[in-house]
Amino acid sequence: MKRPIPSDVVEKAARDKLTERGVTVEDIAKIVYDLQKPYNPSITMEACMKSTDAVLSKREIQHAVLVGVELDMLAEQKKLSEPLQSLVSSDEGLFGVDETIALGSVFGYGSIAVTTFGYLDKQKVGIINELDKRKPKVDTFLDDLVASIAANAAARLAHRGRDIEENLNRDEIKKREDEELIG
Ligand code: MG
Repeated sequence: MKRPIPSDVVEKAARDKLTERGVTVEDIAKIVYDLQKPYNPSITMEACMKSTDAVLSKREIQHAVLVGVELDMLAEQKKLSEPLQSLVSSDEGLFGVDETIALGSVFGYGSIAVTTFGYLDKQKVGIINELDKRKPKVDTFLDDLVASIAANAAARLAHRGRDIEENLNRDEIKKREDEELIG
């Protein structure tokens, strides 16, 4: 059997891919901040950055980022075979695999993440909107991945907020987080 790829290698690769494609943790955290502000007026950018970072440490998310960004980059270099090349590079309206991959990675954070992802998919805000406009770059998968990471980070904060309100201690909160999520 082949040896498994070390987790830190996968995590670094996924984070590097986002950076390479012009998306920072701060860009995503800004979306998280705007999502959470109405529900939690005392939310800080620091908390949103931390939450985004925590989401990026999850294997499911890293795998989705690696697959999606790779396809964007191959399409940009015109290295996919037809008709996939045209479907991805033109972000064809009925091609929903980009959303499907991103949606697949919001299930770990529950229904709030799923509905928030749906919202962000329609209301392209912040960096998602910028990605949408930067032609001729291909960001067919990346915009959905960013929406998915932001939705997860916002849902994570919503659940954590409730746990803190209910005075669960730090160890209990950490234990819940570790148990509830895959990867
Ligand atoms: Mg897309």
